[in-house]
Amino acid sequence: MEVTLGFLGAARNVTGSRYLLKANNVRLLVDCGLYQEREFRSRNWNPFPISPDSLGAVLLTHAHLDHCGLLPKLVRDGFRGRIYCTTATSDIAQIMLLDSANIQEEDAEFKRRRHEREGRKGPFPEVPLYTADDARASFPLFSPVRYGEAIQIGDGVEATFYDAGHVLGSSMIKVRVSGKGEERTILFSGDVGRWNKPILQDPTLFGEADYVLVESTYGDRLHEGSTDITNMLAEIVNSTRKAGGNIVVPSFALERAQEVLYYLNELLIEDRVPHLVVFLDSPMAVSITEVFEQHPELFDREMTKLVRRNRSPFEFMGLKMVQTVDESKAINHIRGTVAVIAGSGMCTGGRIKHHLVRNISRPESTILFVGYQAGGTLGRQIVDGAGEVRILGQQHIVRARIAQIHGFSAHADRDELFRWLSGLRRPPKHLFVTHGEPQVAERFANLVREKTNWEISVPHYGVEVVLE
Ligand SMILES: [Zn+2]
Repeated sequence: MEVTLGFLGAARNVTGSRYLLKANNVRLLVDCGLYQEREFRSRNWNPFPISPDSLGAVLLTHAHLDHCGLLPKLVRDGFRGRIYCTTATSDIAQIMLLDSANIQEEDAEFKRRRHEREGRKGPFPEVPLYTADDARASFPLFSPVRYGEAIQIGDGVEATFYDAGHVLGSSMIKVRVSGKGEERTILFSGDVGRWNKPILQDPTLFGEADYVLVESTYGDRLHEGSTDITNMLAEIVNSTRKAGGNIVVPSFALERAQEVLYYLNELLIEDRVPHLVVFLDSPMAVSITEVFEQHPELFDREMTKLVRRNRSPFEFMGLKMVQTVDESKAINHIRGTVAVIAGSGMCTGGRIKHHLVRNISRPESTILFVGYQAGGTLGRQIVDGAGEVRILGQQHIVRARIAQIHGFSAHADRDELFRWLSGLRRPPKHLFVTHGEPQVAERFANLVREKTNWEISVPHYGVEVVLE
């Protein structure tokens, strides 16, 4: 029996997760993600390294675009198999993919006009990577699975999904291959979540697997704890209210927005902040929050208790879900302190820009960052302390308080990754460290080597290995 594993993404980098497993007569992909780092984005445009129509299935760990964002292209280019994932992942991925397609279409149009004006050609074609129609064409292939239920993919290949505790519906996937009296198990960590994170269950631990792939995004650092989050948030809400300003929170639509609501709700229940009007001003975040509400079976114990006591963080008094542009504009006319959570998380687009224009020059307001700010983004300029920033074509002096809470990460940190690996009572035949910057992945691999005598490697892009 020959089983091979190919590393077609998230190999010595963080995005573009994509692994090719060949076993018996079955070929399948685990994840089919978008490359988001500038230096690797050209790979999104390359033809797939394997003909899409030769693939039997895609196993999708979760709905982040760096794991699912190339599915519309895969389907457009001929993939006709099933895309297996949990129902929540299916619901959220479809929202994310449509949004991504709309952005791809807008970007292409913007680029076309700019090149026309400047009379030049860019390195990539001025067509969208995929369209909203391409995204919709992939939806019928989504095939929901339940945690813990083994599904038959084909000839001697079965896969089981387990809760990864990363974002709603996220999974770790164990693939079992058997044939000719032999058997191998391959465990894909997906993105490893965190213990005691709000709303979600803890990541699943595994006693054994022959081959293990582990992500390493934060393999060389430790996160702040959640008590810090509550204390910092309480201080920010109270002092901003005292000053008479607004709290503006740029946020990702998936998980982060819902967690901010969770913590605000907690502070309100505990009376640590006075009554507060909170706007979730992002149609995408509102839709995703609805998916959360449809899946109470995925909540952890604390969240389940809150919902049973009618204390849901998605329905507290003062919380307004904003859909239309008019509703969004009306927020500006409200007097007194309000909190506005809006996208995009790094201030590169979306409604957050309008709220920044209204608040960034007001010393009484606070701009609160709760997520990673990549280099080159408006969000990064602001957290780095720029005195003046350009928003929607106009310069604005930064006078608002700029605050940042780091503890919100959805990824396990170094110790949490160790905790996940420590579940393995039998040493794996090989551990592949993936999904991390090269230095971080190497450092994490070395740390694991120091503590174990396992065979470990940090695979390069394009490498294919035989799993014996
Ligand atoms: Zn993720």
